[in-house]
Amino acid sequence: MEIAFSRLDERVAKFTISGVSTSFANMLRRAMISEVPTLAIEDVRIYDNSSVLFDEMLAHRLGLIPLRTDLDRYVRRSECTCEGAGCPLCTATYTLSVEGPGTVYSSDLIPQDPDAAPAEEKIPIITLDKDQKVVLEAHAILNTGKEHAKWQATTACGYKNYPSITVTEKCDGCGMCIDECPRGVLEPGDGKVRVIGGRLELCSLCRLCERACLAGGIGTEPAIHVGADENRFIFVVEGDGSMPAREIIERALQYIQKTSDDLVDVINEITGEGIE
Ligand code: SF4
Ligand code: SF4
Ligand SMILES: [Zn+2]
Repeated sequence: MEIAFSRLDERVAKFTISGVSTSFANMLRRAMISEVPTLAIEDVRIYDNSSVLFDEMLAHRLGLIPLRTDLDRYVRRSECTCEGAGCPLCTATYTLSVEGPGTVYSSDLIPQDPDAAPAEEKIPIITLDKDQKVVLEAHAILNTGKEHAKWQATTACGYKNYPSITVTEKCDGCGMCIDECPRGVLEPGDGKVRVIGGRLELCSLCRLCERACLAGGIGTEPAIHVGADENRFIFVVEGDGSMPAREIIERALQYIQKTSDDLVDVINEITGEGIE
């Protein structure tokens, strides 16, 4: 297996993974979406709410705010020594007290732990009119996207097969496929069409170029063929700011490794034989 990153910053990672099956690629995608724990607000104690929103709607909006998550600092409530009562090891506490007129933003949520602050400061929660007021206390806990989307660390996470484009001798360089390509992947060259250097990964495998070529009356076979490498995938992972994109990938791979190890242990226990 080989992994090559073409982009890796705080929020976004783009990488190509080679030498794996579609099943593995999909397992990695699903692990990044639904198995990497993050903090999200789960309990809200509302002391005052004279806004136009019901308490439940307000709590729902608070739950969707991404929170910075240090997974070395927090444990799940179900695994905590407090046995589910809620303590600083498993719970991040926030207070909010705002009086209108004005908009209440995520930055108005004051965290007890500054490392668990909202990932974005300018997420609007509600607009308050004159004399309207919201005063509350909120508690965030760790969980995964499998339980609810508010605990998803990714806002976008997907992959596609690595494209492969070949042009046969039948190509007369008419350029119809170039005009049709929505991704600007093709260009004229040496009497034929060719892929622009560095743009192959942008191909969406839509095959409009093949259709354009056939529409030109070339016969039953287009001169350009678009295929997909079955063992090579391009991933794009966008985080919600709760943790760096790199950590989302690492935590997902650790989850896959741990569940694989657990499965081997179970098989060894059943068969009484050792699998390495
Ligand atoms: S498959 Fe679509 S994106 Fe790819 S080269 Fe053809 S027209 Fe462009
Ligand atoms: S449409 Fe067909 S013949 Fe025309 S440039 Fe493209 S591949 Fe070549
Ligand atoms: Zn606890």
